[in-house]
Amino acid sequence: MGLAHAYVAARRGHSVVLCERGRAATGASIRNFGMIWPIGQPSGAMHQMALRSREIWLEVLQAARLPYLPTGSLHVAYHDDEADVLREFAEIAPRAGYACEWLDAPAVLERSHAVQPKGLKGGVASSTEFTVDPRLVVARLPEYLRELGVAVHFGDAVTHIEPPWIETGGGSHEADIAIVCSGDDFETLFPDVFRASGITRCKLQMMRTAPQPADWHLGPALAAGLTLRFYKAFQMCTTLGKLKERVAREKPEYEKYLIHVLVSETADGAITLGDSHEYSACVDIFDKREIDELILREAETFLRVPDFQIAERWHGVYSTHAEKPFFEAEPDAGIHIVTAPGGSGMTLSFGLAERTIAGLGL
Ligand SMILES: Cc1cc2nc3c(=O)[nH]c(=O)nc-3n(C[C@H](O)[C@H](O)[C@H](O)COP(=O)(O)OP(=O)(O)OC[C@H]3O[C@@H](n4cnc5c(N)ncnc54)[C@H](O)[C@@H]3O)c2cc1C
Repeated sequence: MGLAHAYVAARRGHSVVLCERGRAATGASIRNFGMIWPIGQPSGAMHQMALRSREIWLEVLQAARLPYLPTGSLHVAYHDDEADVLREFAEIAPRAGYACEWLDAPAVLERSHAVQPKGLKGGVASSTEFTVDPRLVVARLPEYLRELGVAVHFGDAVTHIEPPWIETGGGSHEADIAIVCSGDDFETLFPDVFRASGITRCKLQMMRTAPQPADWHLGPALAAGLTLRFYKAFQMCTTLGKLKERVAREKPEYEKYLIHVLVSETADGAITLGDSHEYSACVDIFDKREIDELILREAETFLRVPDFQIAERWHGVYSTHAEKPFFEAEPDAGIHIVTAPGGSGMTLSFGLAERTIAGLGL
């Protein structure tokens, strides 16, 4: 979010200083799937923002000569209720601006050799999603911002803001406006604002295989039935209730940890798998083996990869608001907080940044 805001402000000709407390990025943005995923956003303003964000992402990636996988997405169905939701979505969503279509099982298998054919009922293909490798892109974007004239300071924790002064561990910077994108850090700056905000934290467990054979690629990023419970876009489907009831009845352990399974590919051909959702302001630093096993068990129902062995495991934490798609506040003149884009921050970041900068009249 900080990188995106710095980019949009710099492109509008402003002089920008970006302060990151870490020596390198280690937050949610580097721990995610790298999925730019407009299909997950509810129809209307948030979907429009995601599509605009996608456009800016592509502009940035091309200008910064960073790789991405323009593969689109596939949501696959193995139960009648999943197929019902996806068929209904494919029927009504295109009228709301989603570029997607229903495919029967043979057509899904033509698009993806990574989809398990056994029991497959069909799926929805969408062209608007793409994948970046978060480790690579988030690490290299600061270099590109420097080329645009942004003064990027790592290891520079902001400790106090009183415009025009931004106090940091390393000294102070002068700025007319401060935009605070502090991710899930609610304690350092404006703790009273955050305490009253309704924001909390969400912990997600993730895994990654080693790079697959060089001639094998995932193709479209994959999601399956459990994901339909998560993304608000699917709430437009009248058939969703039946699917949710079955999952709650048949898979209480998946409900307990709010698990669904998404699959993406990294720049070196590894497969990223996740995730779970544990909501608490105080994050459990220890991961649960049970969650990893549930994720892998579900992944094996719809995914075929040459090598399923897990090479890396980690968890990520994002800030999220119970009702709002993101959180904004102006604790004082010249200070704008924007954070908590929940599970969609990678997708929304550039669109949200454009909205913030325009809203500030910059
Ligand atoms: C496991 C996981 C998978 C996800 N998958 C996806 C996905 O595929 N697609 C998608 O759209 N979204 C995804 N998300 C959500 C997305 O990653 C987040 O919404 C997004 O990264 C949040 O960005 P951020 O900049 O707010 O937070 P962060 O990336 O955490 O960055 C906040 C930064 O602020 C810095 N900071 C905080 N306080 C200070 C201070 N006082 N001074 C200086 N620096 C400070 C921190 O050091 C940190 O680097 C996922 C999230 C997780 C955890």
